[in-house]
Amino acid sequence: TSAKVDESCIFCLILQGKIPAHKVYETDKSLAFLDINPVSEGHSLVIPKYHAVKILDLPDEYLADIGPILKKVAKATGTEQFNIIQNNGKMAFQHVDHVHFHVVPKPSPTEGLV
Ligand code: 5GP
Ligand code: ZN
Repeated sequence: TSAKVDESCIFCLILQGKIPAHKVYETDKSLAFLDINPVSEGHSLVIPKYHAVKILDLPDEYLADIGPILKKVAKATGTEQFNIIQNNGKMAFQHVDHVHFHVVPKPSPTEGLV
């Protein structure tokens, strides 16, 4: 399945380099970058390079690419305690309509470890 883009989607603009983002990791099918409003230090988002609003709309090949990246990003944050969160729909607190997985380190590496 070839990449799908929505020009009015903020994450599609990030994928195209039209909006800057701090990249953490990248493959041909996915991008990981820091959340602009982090809940804790290292809070990252992993997104497919395919515009799908909800996880059920995402082709399996893009979903499959994300799993190993979640592990890499979680490891890279330097804490063994973290949440992986993926919201679908307004009732479920989805604010950006492009599939994304949050990786939220807990505690923040600079807080709570002492
Ligand atoms: P949601 O609430 O949809 O699950 O999460 C959307 C996330 O995207 C939020 O944590 C928000 O801070 C982040 N976000 C929204 N716009 C941008 C942006 O332009 N750049 C980055 N890096 N993160 C964004
Ligand atoms: Zn998009």
